[in-house]
Amino acid sequence: MHDVVKTFTRCALCPGVCVTYCPIYMNTHIRASAPNNLARLGLKYLKGYESYDPALWLCTGCRECEYNCPISNPLWNAARISRGKKSRVEAVKVETKNLGGRGSSLLVVSSIIPDQALVEYLKQFYSIHWLDTGSIYMAYWSGSEVQLNLDAFDYIIIDDLDVTPALIPGKLKGKVIYSIQLLEMMGYRSILENKAFVLHVPCKISVDGKELLINVSYKVLGKPIRTISKCIGGGGGLPEKHPVIASELVHSAMKGSRKDYLVVTLCSRAKTHLLSSGYQAKTPLDFIAGDMN
Ligand code: SF4
Ligand code: SF4
Repeated sequence: MHDVVKTFTRCALCPGVCVTYCPIYMNTHIRASAPNNLARLGLKYLKGYESYDPALWLCTGCRECEYNCPISNPLWNAARISRGKKSRVEAVKVETKNLGGRGSSLLVVSSIIPDQALVEYLKQFYSIHWLDTGSIYMAYWSGSEVQLNLDAFDYIIIDDLDVTPALIPGKLKGKVIYSIQLLEMMGYRSILENKAFVLHVPCKISVDGKELLINVSYKVLGKPIRTISKCIGGGGGLPEKHPVIASELVHSAMKGSRKDYLVVTLCSRAKTHLLSSGYQAKTPLDFIAGDMN
């Protein structure tokens, strides 16, 4: 509760700068979904003044509110923690699957089942551990904390960004490789040159991080017809709890892009959301897997 109180009270003198950056509020105009309102709602619920409100799930955890707030207030996290009051909310110990191999220890963080050919390829160089984020996704977004011993790994490949803020503390950034950077390291260049594709650089990454990944993506994939660098509604538990709003968000973000264009997204959870909304989608790991099969 302490974190939620602190987050809420820090907003005291601000006119609500974050509100216009929130993709949910800007798409739905549901007052409860405005970031500073979610924190207020969560606090009242935690203190017992109000009953549970499903609006607490109107947040994808995209972090736009935090990145654009003058004091970097993590309102999304206050909403997330508040959701867990009913089910409380122990820390979840995260298990990784050891897939064998030799060499430096590599953890792949993905919401998608590992492609066997890709695993066999990586095993030549690394001892592979795979974290299926599907196993912790709803627990995390329902308020639990997640615990993973990252000291055991030399490198971490991120293919699902949705639970990354919980898993990868800032101090470990030196170990982290986004899956598009793995392609760059493997020498892939201009894979989709002369093809019409859309690039999706997901939310939950800072502005600097997005810029870096956009540049790497252009080098590896070629120039897309369009780059979308915002939340498309695929994470934070939104598709499970408010599927209609999640679907509206992806269609609004993709407006103007034909459905037969391939969307390359740097997040496997966004890929699942795009596929279930009728778009064609791949993550960087799919390109390596395609070459191996
Ligand atoms: S989170 Fe930041 S931007 Fe939003 S109301 Fe509070 S202080 Fe203002
Ligand atoms: S994390 Fe994103 S969706 Fe959630 S309140 Fe902030 S801006 Fe809105």
